[in-house]
Amino acid sequence: MARVIAVTNQKGGVGKTTTCVNLAASLAATKRRVLLVDMDPQGNATMGSGIDKNALQLSGYDLLTKRASASEIIIHNEMGGYDIMPGNGDLTAAEVELMMEIGREHRLRQALNPLRDNYDYVLIDCPPSLNLLTVNALSFADSILIPMQCEYYALEGLAALMNTVQQIQETVNPNLQVEGILRTMYDPRSSLTRDVSGQLIEFFGDKVYRVVIPRNVRLAEAPSHGMPALKYDKASKGAIAYLALAGEMVRRHGAKKASDAVAV
Ligand code: ADP
Ligand code: MG
Repeated sequence: MARVIAVTNQKGGVGKTTTCVNLAASLAATKRRVLLVDMDPQGNATMGSGIDKNALQLSGYDLLTKRASASEIIIHNEMGGYDIMPGNGDLTAAEVELMMEIGREHRLRQALNPLRDNYDYVLIDCPPSLNLLTVNALSFADSILIPMQCEYYALEGLAALMNTVQQIQETVNPNLQVEGILRTMYDPRSSLTRDVSGQLIEFFGDKVYRVVIPRNVRLAEAPSHGMPALKYDKASKGAIAYLALAGEMVRRHGAKKASDAVAV
């Protein structure tokens, strides 16, 4: 049964979309069945998966407004090896249309829960704000993965995000967990990076992934070719880092399952 992970951070430009696309491709490369859900009206994860967001027949909009079923909307991305539910600016219209509907926070969960058996991982790319689209993602998710840049204001943003998690737990999803914190665009030569990184580990302990994603130009170039870095330049530091992240994630879940079994 799939683990549903929302990749979220209220800050923009921290590597949410880059993480979604490259982690999806890396998990697929390790033979996991992956669904990537693009919940951001910017449609960057869709474009980065080689799908033209302006030419979509069906998208997340149709799912949220019950105009089409998940199986009609989901596309298999041959290049990345994962399935994707594409999204574009129409998601903003869905948000407006849902405003008056009862149960509007749970539309995504309702529609995608039946597909949990078809996948090992569902990754959701979230917009950089706490709107109804994000709330739908967080209502459905088992956990959140938080990409962050180790810079001065990062910790402040993180405090806001932890407040959000608490609010979501108290309202739409009491089971929401923090999957982990991922350090992105990491520059080990910067003393600020090392300081902030140290504070993160102090505060979040082993929730901080050991793998860090370095700043790597291939990761920035790959989306314009509609590919994950793994296909664009598989020897690049970025591609290798995301493969390592997939490995760490799978190992963590394996270890957790084993300890759950022991507890029973
Ligand atoms: P978000 O989805 O959080 O807004 P993106 O994943 O779109 O962030 O990343 C923001 C910008 O930074 C994009 O142009 C992306 O290509 C670039 N980028 C992301 N991660 C890296 C990285 N590790 N190294 C270099 N560039 C990166
Ligand atoms: Mg994004």
